Amino acid sequence: VIKKERPNTLGFYDASVQSEWQKRRALEQDLRLALQHRELSLVYQPMFCMRSSLCSGFEALLRWNSPTHGPVAPDLFIGLAESIGLMEEVGTWVLREACAEAARWAVPLTVAVNVSPIQIQQGDLASVITETLNTTGLPANRLEIEVTESMLIRNFDRAVDTLQRIKALGVGISIDDFGTGYSSLATLRAFPFNKLKIDRSFVRDLAEESESLAIVNAVLGLGRGLRLPVVVEGVETERQADILRDCGADAIQGYLFGRPSPISAYSNITDPRVTSRRRLAV
Ligand code: C2E
Ligand code: MG
Ligand code: MG
Ligand code: MG
Repeated sequence: VIKKERPNTLGFYDASVQSEWQKRRALEQDLRLALQHRELSLVYQPMFCMRSSLCSGFEALLRWNSPTHGPVAPDLFIGLAESIGLMEEVGTWVLREACAEAARWAVPLTVAVNVSPIQIQQGDLASVITETLNTTGLPANRLEIEVTESMLIRNFDRAVDTLQRIKALGVGISIDDFGTGYSSLATLRAFPFNKLKIDRSFVRDLAEESESLAIVNAVLGLGRGLRLPVVVEGVETERQADILRDCGADAIQGYLFGRPSPISAYSNITDPRVTSRRRLAV
């Protein structure tokens, strides 16, 4: 335990920097044990097809509920897991867990799993996926992986090769957070994507800001031209959903239609006896 007010003997060492660093170390230590201690879990968020207004599948999102730190944000602990060499193990666990879950659904919906650059750059992701599909019995066409493009650049050839092998299995590959970071049209052409997810930052101001609308329309046009269905994430209001329908978005996802929740919250969707509940109420 660190004392709050450390005597600042060196004159430039800030106590708050020290405690930030200590906090990070403590998080790292606990994260190493989180898998064993069953502190990691998955929540699921539905995606809906605009045309049919039916749920088309779920995205699995990782959660860490630590007994000492409470719920830790994925944007924080996934970065930590990557930096301490834990991401392959965690990522493999996520894939197994999500595929085993989807294999139990009575309705053949897809499950989308986010994968880290580390899994593509260092691990043998194509083999991990093959093995996971074999052991869980989930048909390949019910799995999608979501990748952000920022990572693919570092080891371009390896990334292309891995993703091509995954595609050949029949697994879908979505480009996530499109429009942010290192998104470029060149990578879109080089990699075997079959779905495009527009980052939610473009949706936030959709109703108020003409620039966001122009960007969303441009990406939808790009999707049509490349024959890639476009999913729009982060839809929170009816107004946004209306605009996106008018623009011709293929699918939508967001708090308006369902928060990331334990799958039990969506048993009405995964139960074939109540297919009517899969319909969007918009
Ligand atoms: P992402 O894959 O782009 O996931 C979408 C994020 O937006 C999720 O945040 C989700 O909870 C949030 N979201 C969904 N709908 C709305 C909405 O209407 N409004 C707002 N404001 N937010 C919405 P979350 O769960 O905190 O995850 C953050 C990021 O962490 C994910 O972004 C993904 O990049 C990463 N991540 C999550 N789970 C995993 C995983 O299992 N493996 C890897 N490698 N990354 C993961
Ligand atoms: Mg995602
Ligand atoms: Mg995203
Ligand atoms: Mg993201």
